[in-house]
Amino acid sequence: RSMVVSIIGRPNVGKSTIFNRLMKKQHLAMTHDQPGVTRDRHYGIMTLEEAIDGEAYKEEVILVDTGGFYPDKIEIDPKKKNNIDPFFNIMADHAKLAIDESDLVLFVVDVREGLLPFDKGICDYIKSTRKPFWLIMNKFDTEKQEGDQYDFYNLGLDEENMMRVSAEHNRGFYDIRERLVKKA
Ligand code: GDP
Ligand code: MG
Repeated sequence: RSMVVSIIGRPNVGKSTIFNRLMKKQHLAMTHDQPGVTRDRHYGIMTLEEAIDGEAYKEEVILVDTGGFYPDKIEIDPKKKNNIDPFFNIMADHAKLAIDESDLVLFVVDVREGLLPFDKGICDYIKSTRKPFWLIMNKFDTEKQEGDQYDFYNLGLDEENMMRVSAEHNRGFYDIRERLVKKA
């Protein structure tokens, strides 16, 4: 069975940009909406072909983008913004289902904004599922942002599970692919 990797995080952190970046130039690239319980999860099959330590690897990974759920919930009652139950208002049902069906979660944050309470809530939820996850610190566009990642050390994660990328500038994805191949 192919490894299933879901992309989780609050809106606007760059989940879909990361999804598209990882799907780019894939031989079997495809995305589609699934009806029923899988509504609002976008699936893609990503083929990883890498040479690691002189050996060629080819792995298929099912990538799940969990876009489009949280903004609706927030916009319904913006007054509650400061008092949001992280379980119900941040993590909509399909995001939780996506985590549930994942072998690995890519938990995406915006390194420019620093660690927000929403991020903390999502992180706590992912931790509670005991699924393996990596913290993807996105929007690390330039070296001038060096140091901005330290805010996220407050999440208490292993440094080896924390990665900096820029989906917009295509930085850090060779490393992500290589790690995915090793994990698949
Ligand atoms: P999602 O809501 O988490 O799926 O976020 P999107 O992928 O839709 O991206 C939200 C916004 O952030 C868009 O305007 C993207 O162009 C922008 N964005 C995504 N990745 C990066 C990045 O690495 N750097 C910068 N500066 N902007 C980014
Ligand atoms: Mg999206």
